[in-house]
Amino acid sequence: MIPYGKQDINQADIDAVIEVLHSDWLTQGSTVPKFEQAIADKCQVKLAVAVSSATAALHIACLALDIKEKDRVWTSPITFVASANCALYCGATVDFIDIDLNSGNISVMTLEKKLVKAKQQNKLPKVIIVVHLAGQSCDMLAIYNLSQQYGFKIIEDASHAIGGQYKNKPVGCCQFSDITVFSFHPVKIITSAEGGMAVTNTQQLAEKMQLYRSHGITANEQQMTEPSHGPWYYQQIALGFNYRMTDIQAALGLSQLYRIDSFIEQRNQLAKKYDKAFKETAITPLIADKNCLSAYHLYLILLPQANAEQHKKAIITLREQNIFAHVHYIPVHLQPFYQNLGFKLGDFPNAEQYYQQAITLPLHPKITRLEQNYIIEKVKALL
Ligand SMILES: *Cc1c(COP(=O)(O)O)cnc(C)c1O
Repeated sequence: MIPYGKQDINQADIDAVIEVLHSDWLTQGSTVPKFEQAIADKCQVKLAVAVSSATAALHIACLALDIKEKDRVWTSPITFVASANCALYCGATVDFIDIDLNSGNISVMTLEKKLVKAKQQNKLPKVIIVVHLAGQSCDMLAIYNLSQQYGFKIIEDASHAIGGQYKNKPVGCCQFSDITVFSFHPVKIITSAEGGMAVTNTQQLAEKMQLYRSHGITANEQQMTEPSHGPWYYQQIALGFNYRMTDIQAALGLSQLYRIDSFIEQRNQLAKKYDKAFKETAITPLIADKNCLSAYHLYLILLPQANAEQHKKAIITLREQNIFAHVHYIPVHLQPFYQNLGFKLGDFPNAEQYYQQAITLPLHPKITRLEQNYIIEKVKALL
């Protein structure tokens, strides 16, 4: 079976992990701060906070932006459930912005209309979590301009997009957002096994996220309510979690980061070849935006006007031929848990149409030329 995504681990990655295992610190040593600094440098952003997953990063990002009960958070319905769940963890209300079918990202036009209406009803969101689907950035400048006009904060869920660019700057530079979040799950661009990172240019947000990642405990006397009792002393000043990344994970992530540019290049080359192969067919790949360099975490195509039955059959056919086609994503608002919150079929028509047409094809650096030719042949044969 050719998987849709897969990690690429080399001897240097293995050696880096072994080195930590031989050291004094498996966690809370010097490798996590090294990894944080390396990510900050790569993304041209000031501060980075490593955590145990992107889900944890989204949660502490929401907490740092002070999301709580009665607050509203909007995100895309075409994403992994974690992009919406993080707001619910904080007791907030979630709503969705329908997507643009060309890119799969939230439609800025729909967002603007929704904001106009929300303003009239006094129901503006406090935070919008944008998702860079498949690794291609949303139109951040336009969304940022709306945030200035309507007064919301922005979290970028860039779980797919590390190594990508928007307007010639790295995704994660936070030029048009408050916080950006990355995932290092093995199917993503680079991996630390499990792991995530939240980056920001705002010192105060980074300090809050550091606090929430580690039980709400601080050893920094400046944050304490009274003078330190001595060198053993710490204070709990908030209710936090244990969301720390281990040094073992950080060593793997840091070692992988050295190869990120070649990963992105290989993924772009594979994507270009797919694009070219489908050009004269009825298959529509997601459109590549000229303002972006996609990290191509996923390669997504839309089948021509498929119904649910045809879509299902296409994916089963590919899997029977050892091509592990997938669907990213089932619209979050159609999940039973979200249906119980009041969302229903018909709420976000583009997302629902997308779900009936979208297929994720295998894309990762380990795919060979022969494998890709085979996939292309079998996908064309679906038509
Ligand atoms: C993978 C993913 C997450 C969650 O990442 P974890 O590191 O597994 O917690 C969140 N959002 C999106 C869009 C993702 O693809």
